[in-house]
Amino acid sequence: LRANFSVIQKETGFVNGLIAVLHDITEQEKIDAERREFVANVSHELRTPLTTMRSYLEALADGAWRDEEIAPNFLEVTSMETERMIRLVNDLLQLSKMDSTDYKLNKEWVDFVVFYDRIIDRLEMSKQQNVTFKRMLPNRAIFVEIDEDKMTQVLYNIISNALKYSPEGGQVTFSLKDKDDKIIVSVSDEGVGIPKESIGKIFDRFYRVDKARTRKLGGTGLGLAIAKEMVKCHGGNIWATSREGKGTTISFSLPFDHTEEDDWS
Ligand code: ADP
Repeated sequence: LRANFSVIQKETGFVNGLIAVLHDITEQEKIDAERREFVANVSHELRTPLTTMRSYLEALADGAWRDEEIAPNFLEVTSMETERMIRLVNDLLQLSKMDSTDYKLNKEWVDFVVFYDRIIDRLEMSKQQNVTFKRMLPNRAIFVEIDEDKMTQVLYNIISNALKYSPEGGQVTFSLKDKDDKIIVSVSDEGVGIPKESIGKIFDRFYRVDKARTRKLGGTGLGLAIAKEMVKCHGGNIWATSREGKGTTISFSLPFDHTEEDDWS
């Protein structure tokens, strides 16, 4: 805390007042430090794929392009790194849009059961892993007011992690429950799990439990941070529970109004 004092003095020189202005510099310093750390992280995240690409391109230019076995492999690596950088920059743009004050959701009333089911269908169709899907969804409509595009991204980010960290032959379970004034959406996997000390940090920008491993899986470290911002914009919460070696559940809540539901039935 910093205090600035101004003395109020009459022409006679008589002091008849004192104004104290208190600044909460600790809060401001914290924001500045976070911003510096974020810029350092972004620079590092961009430098890593760029240096990889540089060395592969140099090798190709030095003659590797003539080797019919090596060349396609090197080109594939540079192309994968390019894709990851594009994803990273798109994620950063997404976050910067959400950080701006005039960020608006395009909300509509949606039956979340149908919406969720459709997204699960889409991911089940396109998944490349040997993982089974189990749905535990209510067999009645649950109407909530959401921005469909944003909510699609939230679910996509959570489910693609569940797939990424699932073991061969594992199961991913999807559930949806309504509880008082909210709905709770959960995605559970039987994967590696998350250590206790990391559980609170996985929603932070660029936090990864195992940096080398998740980079190899093509992650940007921003997926859950984006999901968290989007859920917060909807008035909900997001959290994780996990047991190492057993699996992880990512859940989020959204406001739900029973009276609105009655209007639709
Ligand atoms: P990434 O792009 O690295 O996946 P995310 O923001 O989506 O970034 O996730 C942050 C980190 O949280 C991941 O790097 C991973 O360590 C951990 N994580 C997220 N989901 C899971 C999961 N289902 N199982 C195990 N670890 C997970």
